[in-house]
Amino acid sequence: MSRAETLLRLWEAGCGCAPVERPLRLLAQTHGEEPADLAGLSLGARDRRLIGLRETLFGREMACVAPCPACGSVNEFALDARALDAMGDRDQPDAPLAAPGPDGPVPLRLLTTADLIAVAGLPPDQMRAGLVARAMDAEPADEATIEAAARLLEAADPLAALSLDLACAGCGQDFEVGLDPAEHLWTELVAAVRRLLAEVHRLAAAYGWSETAILALSPARRAAYLDMVGA
Ligand SMILES: [Zn+2]
Repeated sequence: MSRAETLLRLWEAGCGCAPVERPLRLLAQTHGEEPADLAGLSLGARDRRLIGLRETLFGREMACVAPCPACGSVNEFALDARALDAMGDRDQPDAPLAAPGPDGPVPLRLLTTADLIAVAGLPPDQMRAGLVARAMDAEPADEATIEAAARLLEAADPLAALSLDLACAGCGQDFEVGLDPAEHLWTELVAAVRRLLAEVHRLAAAYGWSETAILALSPARRAAYLDMVGA
């Protein structure tokens, strides 16, 4: 399959579903696994696969933007996909996790996409407690338990709660920005597909060729024809 076809198929797989389910659709399209099986991967393991897929499609360097909360300047920076990948695949935590509770430690497991889907309908202020309840397979006893468990879960699966410390190039303000590999991949994919479809549109309008015929052209030929039609 050509790169253009791959991009279009992935985009189609990710259109028209809830954002929480999109990473599973994209990975299912790529790896041929069932979304239901992928839903059981830890979030970090899932995100590591998404970063690998992104690198295959767009290369190792990840261009990112972050607006400064103080002055609004848009800061541009690049991340190395391999450096993120090296943060590790935590299908299992390094050591068994347990949150301190009023009646003793409560075992925890890492969060998965299935957990995110399960709490998606909750009011935003109840989501964290809902996720902790699923991770400990019991209702957390109190707010302190929720807080402690949430911190442990973040530390045990760092790729799933990725945040970066930046200094604004405009005003010098230090700030923290979260990076969601799934959202990053989808934004880049949508932009690439829009460019591709705009090229198909211009060549189809100019020459009357079919979409299939235009997509079958090598990128060099497509660029040469676009040049000739003045696009
Ligand atoms: Zn700033």
